[in-house]
Amino acid sequence: MSEKKAKKLIYTRQEMFELNKKILLKRGVTLEAIAEISFKQQAKYTDNISRDICLESVEKIISLRDVFHHVQLAAEIDRLAEEGMFQGPIQDIIYEDLGLFGIDETMGLEVSGLYGTIGQTNFGDIDVNKHGIVKRLNDAGKEDGICHTFLDDIVGAIAAAASTRVAQVMSEETAHEETGLKRFSIFDL
Ligand code: MG
Repeated sequence: MSEKKAKKLIYTRQEMFELNKKILLKRGVTLEAIAEISFKQQAKYTDNISRDICLESVEKIISLRDVFHHVQLAAEIDRLAEEGMFQGPIQDIIYEDLGLFGIDETMGLEVSGLYGTIGQTNFGDIDVNKHGIVKRLNDAGKEDGICHTFLDDIVGAIAAAASTRVAQVMSEETAHEETGLKRFSIFDL
């Protein structure tokens, strides 16, 4: 009896970060473009935020295992739909990005929910108002041969989670200023 070939299932945070960065880039999305949405969204509520903390937040979020699974799956679903690989009605429903199909948004809510209800309401804002790269993905997805049905939600959700993380980090810093204590590194937000 032949042995089942061992497959790699568990990746390190660094590997997940690199693999997510790579697949996003392959689908036309840079981490800077995602961070820009977070910056614009959070700048409305918080003064003195930097693009660096937005990018740091995006980088952290895409290294999380749950997000890794979502990003990899979302990118593959879109690619398979572009290649006409699904069978049955779901092929056209995904490829045409049917408005009443909501599983892409479910995935977005799941990812943005890593940063609580505020993460999810921030995702709702990005989903409805389609800022920056999310708008570009949405528009490009209408072109022949391109499907961004899942990618636009995952990207919007990462931006929403990152923008929420920025608010959390800055609140923590404010709280520590008030108490006179330094920010504790074990409380990694
Ligand atoms: Mg979508």
